[in-house]
Amino acid sequence: MAIRKITEYPEEVLAEVGKSVTVFDEELENLCADMFETMYDAEGVGLAAQQIGLALRLFVMDCEGIKLVAANPEIIHTEGEQSGQEGCLSVGKVPAIVVRANKVTLKAQNAKGEWFEQAAEGLAARCFLHETDHCDGKLFIDHLPKLRREMVVKRFMKEKKWK
Ligand SMILES: [Zn+2]
Repeated sequence: MAIRKITEYPEEVLAEVGKSVTVFDEELENLCADMFETMYDAEGVGLAAQQIGLALRLFVMDCEGIKLVAANPEIIHTEGEQSGQEGCLSVGKVPAIVVRANKVTLKAQNAKGEWFEQAAEGLAARCFLHETDHCDGKLFIDHLPKLRREMVVKRFMKEKKWK
């Protein structure tokens, strides 16, 4: 297992729509293990393949008791609305308020290629939506009004320079 380098905004891969995962082998399992290790090291609750430089429809998450690998994720049901703080490891965890559905159902394949459905609400639902967006080349700041998006990017760039 290895900790991978996390890609950061505005690296192009973050805006790429991921390719479908078609091979479910040991290599994929190793990749997922690396993604979990990278996510835990960065103290995140979810990590998509784009965030380690791979344009793939794949993410891992461990949030509010829901720990899973999701290959080829689709959100098949959304319900209600929640407004809350959201951040992203690729945008330096700079937080912003994002309105999301409050209950969602995710359909995806696990690391063995078996399809499953998982319902979640609150923070875990937010995580499903955030990570599925990554797989489609979308960042949480894409949901923000222009001015607020610029503020998040500005703060991230400033903090990055200090590192
Ligand atoms: Zn993210």
